[in-house]
Amino acid sequence: MIEVSALTKSYGPIEALRGVSFHISRGEIVGLLGPNGAGKTTILKILTGYLQPDEGTILIHGLNALEHPREVQAQIGYLPETAPLYPELTVQSYLQLMADLRQVPEERQREHFSAAVYATGLQGHLTRPIGQLSRGFRQRVGLAQAIMHQPQILILDEPTVGLDPTQIVEIRQLIRRLAQHTTVLFSTHILSEVETLCDRAIILMNGEVRADARLSDLAATSNAVMVLSNAVLDAPAALRNLEGVRAVETFRSDDGFPAYRILGDSAMGVELCPVIYDLARSRQWALRELRRDVRTLETVFNELATRAEVAA
Ligand code: ATP
Repeated sequence: MIEVSALTKSYGPIEALRGVSFHISRGEIVGLLGPNGAGKTTILKILTGYLQPDEGTILIHGLNALEHPREVQAQIGYLPETAPLYPELTVQSYLQLMADLRQVPEERQREHFSAAVYATGLQGHLTRPIGQLSRGFRQRVGLAQAIMHQPQILILDEPTVGLDPTQIVEIRQLIRRLAQHTTVLFSTHILSEVETLCDRAIILMNGEVRADARLSDLAATSNAVMVLSNAVLDAPAALRNLEGVRAVETFRSDDGFPAYRILGDSAMGVELCPVIYDLARSRQWALRELRRDVRTLETVFNELATRAEVAA
């Protein structure tokens, strides 16, 4: 549904994006997670046609977004970091204005308006000026304008930033409800937000995608870590050939030894350590350590952040 390939973007000397690629399928709810300055807003602005990339392509339903911006924008609802609200307008006038701007056909405006108002729980607030609403309700108005044209894709830039804890819970519930009918991509720097809301997290650091994983895979207990005393060239390939192994990552252990993270295919439910142990014995690998690897989003994020700091 959304296919982003090799996006690059610089602001003068600042390389904000360096070859970002990812794919999002229909119905997914994906969190774009990264620290401040990672490039999240830049990606969302490019996806929504507010910014041109230097290089790269974006396909939305197979349509090139850079060549057909209007057609693509009609399929996307966007809530920027600062919602484009007019404080002096009432909720009703503002949403009607947005329905006009989004070119919702006149005969469908009433239906679209009611659906957006109902979905965001704004029924009792239509006559209030936006400037008098709490931040949480202003954010609801921002969401209502984003879904006014009933887009198939919803893109939200840090939708809960600046809200109090109760408002955060309400907006998250709202996003979850909207995601029942819409593909959602939202940015955040809050790990728990991704854990509460998403099927998948794309972790962005320094303008690069550092991880792209389903949360259920991250939580799978069937992963393992093997540390060897000496590097073995064909170890990754041999590990990959084991039944139930989905992927193998190589890295250095904290004390500097060659290490392999073996990711299990959670659907197969294979306990990996015994099979890896048998393989290591049969190949006479100098095994230093073999353990199950239970990873949370937080561990993944911290590992990546540490690696990014070391590389910087
Ligand atoms: P935040 O969470 O702070 O909004 P982000 O992950 O959304 O961060 P971006 O806003 O995309 O990151 O910024 C990526 C990089 O590009 C940062 O280094 C930022 O300072 C820089 N940048 C963004 N917009 C501009 C601009 N208009 N001019 C110059 N540099 C910019």
